[in-house]
Amino acid sequence: MLRKIIDSSWFYFALAGLLIVAAVYSQLRFEPLERPVGDAADIRAMPEREQLNVVFVVIDMLRADRLSAYGNPRPTSPVLDAMAANGVQFMNVEAQSSWTKASMASMWTGMYPERTGVQRFFHAMPQEATLPAEILKDAGYRTAGIWRNGWVANNFGFGQGFDLYIRPRQVRPEHKVTRSSPGVRNLPGTDMDATLSAIEFMTGAKDDPFFLYVHYMDVHQYLYTDLSPDFGTSFSDFYDSSIYWSDYNIGRLMKALRDLGIAEKTLVVVISDHGEAFFEHGIEGHARNLYREVLDTPWIMALPFRLDPGVVVDQRVANVDVWPTLLDMLGLPPLPGAEGVSALPLILDAAEGRSDGTAESDRAVFAQLDRSWGRVDAEPVPTLSMVKGAHRINYLTNNPDRVEVFDRVEDPKETKNIASDRPELVSELKSEIDAFFGRPKTAWSSAPEVELDEMHINQLRALGYVIETPGDRPQHGDRPGKAIPKPPVAKGESAEEVPAPAVQVPATN
Ligand SMILES: [Zn+2]
Repeated sequence: MLRKIIDSSWFYFALAGLLIVAAVYSQLRFEPLERPVGDAADIRAMPEREQLNVVFVVIDMLRADRLSAYGNPRPTSPVLDAMAANGVQFMNVEAQSSWTKASMASMWTGMYPERTGVQRFFHAMPQEATLPAEILKDAGYRTAGIWRNGWVANNFGFGQGFDLYIRPRQVRPEHKVTRSSPGVRNLPGTDMDATLSAIEFMTGAKDDPFFLYVHYMDVHQYLYTDLSPDFGTSFSDFYDSSIYWSDYNIGRLMKALRDLGIAEKTLVVVISDHGEAFFEHGIEGHARNLYREVLDTPWIMALPFRLDPGVVVDQRVANVDVWPTLLDMLGLPPLPGAEGVSALPLILDAAEGRSDGTAESDRAVFAQLDRSWGRVDAEPVPTLSMVKGAHRINYLTNNPDRVEVFDRVEDPKETKNIASDRPELVSELKSEIDAFFGRPKTAWSSAPEVELDEMHINQLRALGYVIETPGDRPQHGDRPGKAIPKPPVAKGESAEEVPAPAVQVPATN
């Protein structure tokens, strides 16, 4: 009998089939969270839930279009793709600045940089600001922040409301690590350190409501491991490999939620502070201008139940909307003074089939960058950006005649400045952006300035930022050994062409 089966060709077909299934399954690595299927009524009922934990993951420097969930043909993000497929995905998200501290200050407060006042390297969040962790702590949550980016350290005021606010302890990497960020000192450790610390915290806190913030840095550091597919040898390829590695880390967090039995009482949010340029506008890196490649970021959420199918929100939102939305979903008090709005109505519209799928909306969202952010005494060089309808307008307030306007429908990469062809459009957009930035300034009596000691400065320099303190010479030049040739920047075409940039940020910043 056995002999007969072994001799049968069907046996070999079946065996081959099983092997293929096993191979495919082992590639997936990520087993979807086993949670009950929910619908719009369950979303509406979320504020009433007894225990609803929040795991809030920031993947630093992650631009949306590099995730397969946002159209990258490479399989960079199997875990996030699965999260989006049965969760909530926002397709149009605008970050509020192109460097970490200014952007995170806006994300946590729901206010634009002009109002937070956090625009220079020495600025900090004042104590009088109310941050989400404080609201959650007051509501009885255990709160922990585990971060690897010095810009969000406690000395900049970001630890308010956290019971535990730490850099993770370093562990020996289980995988072969490749660090492809020459030219800067490497940040010690890997994101797995943050993942393991996060799992340790969740294991201890699983019986209480908890809020866990995890800030990953390996995409920023172009660090990846042998788990990542080989995407090639340019920095752009390494960037994709790093995304795969961060995505794997999120898979580990999701697996821990399931193993601890708390997946169905936890909301998981994945987001970024800004993107990264690969010469789309003449430079690589970030923190130097305000174009799509540094401002379009992802926002994906796994709810405590599976949505089948997942909800896709096409309307434009901004990172200032993130916490107004989450606090709304949790049934907690709103952030005082927030300029962002809750996107919960948009989620419900999409879940209940009311949205028309229009990607562009009339709502204006803003971003801002003081190009002198890395210098102590330099005059501000504010760059303002607004996206409204189909258009982005960018300009330097010190040089208001140098305006750029892009039609993002005709020209999604924002390469063709149509300002000189469309004077009425320019004045319409300009008066709106002027009105917005002409409002009263900071929301607090003062935005405190922090004395940074040499240790702090060195930690920030380890991220690749060049900070010019008194006595320092500004450093110039791109990182050595760059794999991508640098195209010439056409003179007079870019609003970013300011004399001698205050801060030279290597692309690995
Ligand atoms: Zn960042």
